[in-house]
Order: sequence, then structure tokens, then C-alpha cells
Amino acid sequence: MEQFQELLSTNPWLLLAYLIGSVTFILGLKMLSHPETARKGNLIAAGGMIISIFATIFLYQYKGGEGQPVGLHNYVWIFSALVIGTIVGTLAAKKVQMTAMPEMVSLFNGMGGACAMLISLIEYRNDSMPPMGKFLIIVLGMIIGTVSFAGSVIAWGKLNGRVKDKTIPGGQAINFLIFAGIIILSIMVVGGFSTSPYLFYGILVLAAMYGVLFVMPIGGADMPVVISLLNSFTGVAAAFGGFLYNNPVMLTGGILVGSAGTILTILMCKAMNRSLKNVLIGSFGGAKATAGGPAKDQGAFKEISVNDTATLMAYAQKVLIIPGYGLAVAQAQHICHELEKVLEEKGVEVNYGIHPVAGRMPGHMNVLLAEADVPYEKLLEMEDANDQMGTTNVVLILGANDVVNPAAKDDPASPIYGMPILEVEKADHVIVNKRSMKPGYAGIENDLFFKPKTSMLFGDAKKVLQSLVAELKTV
Ligand code: NDP
Repeated sequence: MEQFQELLSTNPWLLLAYLIGSVTFILGLKMLSHPETARKGNLIAAGGMIISIFATIFLYQYKGGEGQPVGLHNYVWIFSALVIGTIVGTLAAKKVQMTAMPEMVSLFNGMGGACAMLISLIEYRNDSMPPMGKFLIIVLGMIIGTVSFAGSVIAWGKLNGRVKDKTIPGGQAINFLIFAGIIILSIMVVGGFSTSPYLFYGILVLAAMYGVLFVMPIGGADMPVVISLLNSFTGVAAAFGGFLYNNPVMLTGGILVGSAGTILTILMCKAMNRSLKNVLIGSFGGAKATAGGPAKDQGAFKEISVNDTATLMAYAQKVLIIPGYGLAVAQAQHICHELEKVLEEKGVEVNYGIHPVAGRMPGHMNVLLAEADVPYEKLLEMEDANDQMGTTNVVLILGANDVVNPAAKDDPASPIYGMPILEVEKADHVIVNKRSMKPGYAGIENDLFFKPKTSMLFGDAKKVLQSLVAELKTV
């Protein structure tokens, strides 16, 4: 509070800029909660961030050698970093494929963690014996930022398939020992029991190891939980930076990301039917989730042609489309919207059933369908979609697999057992579009494909939907 009052009397314009930044973050976050306002919300928050950054560069003052206020001066370094970062970020964001978006988000999250880590390292380098409160913030920011950075890099590798799920024998015990080591070293360093820099850097190394080992065994369907958890870690680490510099805008941003990430983690846990306690101690059961097991003989599956699918759908009263990761891979969201419009012209009621972990990032399907201007009211959350399943004539599954796998309900040995799914079997007909019989992200077979009500419509989602729309126009 004192610092804010000091800032108000000595540098009111900087405080005003920070206030604007904080308000835009809150407004932007609020607007992100609806697809129609999300884009604008993102721009407003980015605008606030730009104001805060430039206000810091040009208005921030610190106490110089003789106690007089001095502004920042190392502009060459600052602007070089800004220009390089802007170019790299813009090119990466422009070039990224929609399907690689989740990986990129994970990497960007890791960069936030790395920034918090670097802030702590620099502050330690400036003053290796700060007051205990400040030292605690430095150490906590470094630990959480480093865990988030290392964990996000592993999550990035897992999402793009470069890093395979790996269970280390005794992994839980090793994680526990590392965690204990981090706490013991932190107490020694912050409590002033040792001034050796090796202990401080030891914390850094242990935190990096913890980040890697904590995410490494998590696999299959449990990834969404860990991604949102890492997201909240980054927010908390940034908030520590805000404390460190008495910077209100950094504090607001960090707290918003941290709390939004925590809420998302709780929602994802609910969606996956995992307890937060299990998540926090790292026992995700992910090791099992990677297994997949030997293929069992599930009998024969039925195929359906585009012609027959078109006829079935044209004469249906109610159709539910279930999008999954494959729809994003095929970039078939626009043609999917066209299918919906063609069917509605024929008097068919069309809605979408959205599973909270469909795709590869939280809200992936909402973003994808919003891009194609699918009306938001048509996107039914899982519970609502399941309520409507009994009165639905045709369910069309487009590139979804794990989120409709009945093993989650019926097979206690399955790694996804307990995860709520879209209960498509309650509908009259189930049509599954995918390219092959290959499993989805969790690597497990899907009995749904062999059920009497199910028909497989093989092919790339975009091509199949194009043919389906063309065919429907002739029915
Ligand atoms: P899945 O990964 O289970 O299945 C996607 C299916 O799409 C595949 O079986 C694939 O089959 C098919 N497919 C791929 N490309 C195409 C294409 N061009 N045309 C048609 N089909 C295609 O996806 P779901 O959305 O059902 O489930 C998401 C999974 O990802 C869950 O296990 C979830 O836990 C996990 N996950 C989710 C995250 C999130 O935050 N949402 C984050 C990380 C993981 P084929 O190859 O035969 O075509």
C-alpha cells in the first residue's frame, strides 16, 4: 500500500497506465468467456499490455546512487529484445497450423514460467542477501516458474508427439524426494542458514527436474488437467514478480491467470472425473493411460456410404454432430457449418455435442466452430447433449474417438474409466467419420465402432463432408 501511495505522489501517470492495464486485463478476460466477444477481449487486453509496457519503459523511475530518481536508459537492449520477441512471436503465430495451436499455447505458457524464473535469477544476482520476505518471493517465483517452464516444454513435446509418456520406476518416490529437497534447500537459503549460491542454484536444478518428472508419466486422457495446472503455475509465478517489483499490473495479470488457470483445472478435473488432490500429488494414473493393451477381437464393424448417410440425415428430425480432434486436423469446420445449414433448410434440427476435453486444448472445439461462425447456442455442453441423446435420430461423430469411448463407463480396467463421455449409444443411429480404425490420443481401442447401432464412414472429414453436402443437395 505504501508503495502505491508513493507511486501516486511521485509518478501518477505510471500508476494511471497500470490502472488502465489492469482494467483491460479484467475486461479482456471477461470478454474471453464468450466466442462472440473473445477476439475483441483479446485485443483490449493486448492494448492494455502495450500501454503498461511502454509506460514502464518511459515513465518508470528507480532510486539512483544518490537517492535521486533515475529513469530507464538501456533502451538499445530493451528495444532489441522487444523487436526480436515481436518478430518471432508474430511469425510463429501467423505460421502455426490450427492443429498445432495447443502445442504453441503450451510453449507460450512455458515462456511465462521462464520469465518468472529469470526475474528471480536476476534479482538474486543483484542482491544475494535480500531481506527474508523479499528472498522468499524470489525463491518461490523461481521454483514455480521453473516447474512451469520445464513442465510446459515436456507438455509441448507430448502434444506434438516428440516426447512419449514414460513411467520411471519409483517415480512417485523420486518426485517426493525432489520436492522435499526443494523445501529443505529453500528453508536453508531463505532462513539464512547458508549463504552459498550453490544451494540457491541447486533449488533451480531440482525445480527443473521436478517439472520434467512430474509431467513425464502423465499420458492419454489426463493431459488437459496438467496443461491447465501448468497455466495456473505460470500465473502465480508472474504474480510473485509483481510482488517483487511492487508492480500492480504484473500482480493483477498474474493473479488473473493464476486464478483462471486454477478454476480451469478444477473444471477439467471434474470433466475427467479426477480429484484435484490426485492431480496435485502427481498420481494421475497416466502411466496406465499410455498402455492401450493388446488388441482384442471385437468382431466386425459396419460401413456406410455417403449416399446412405445423406438419406439417413435428410429424413431425420434431430441430428447431433460430435466434433473431435480429427475435425481440427481436417480443417473441416466451415464445411461442417454448411452441412448444418443444408440440413436445417430441410427442416432437420441440428446441434453440436461438445465434450470438455475434445481436441487438444481446453475449449478447442468451441474455438474451431466459432471460427466457422457456428451459432453459439447450437453448442451443447456434454450434460445437455446427453440429455437430448435419447430423442436424437442420428449422431454424426466427426474425428472424435476418446470422448465417445464407452470403455470409460463399462470397463474398469480401461485407463479412461470414470471419465464422463458423450453417451451416443442412446441415439437411434451412430455414424463415425474417421480415416481408419486407429485409436485416438489415449491410445485405446473403441468398442463403440463395433456396436450394432454404429456405422463407420471412412475418409478425411473435409472430403467426406464435402461429398455429404453435395449429396444432400440432391436428396
Ligand atoms: P481423439 O484424439 O480421441 O481422436 C481423434 C480421432 O480423429 C482419431 O481417432 C483419428 O482417427 C481421427 N482423425 C484424425 N485426423 C482425421 C481427419 N483428417 N479426418 C477424420 N478423422 C480424423 O480425439 P477426441 O477429440 O475424441 O479426444 C481428445 C483426446 O485428447 C482425449 O483423450 C483428451 O484427453 C486428449 N487431450 C485433450 C486436451 C484438451 O485440453 N482438450 C489436451 C491434451 C490431450 P484416424 O486416424 O483413424 O482418422
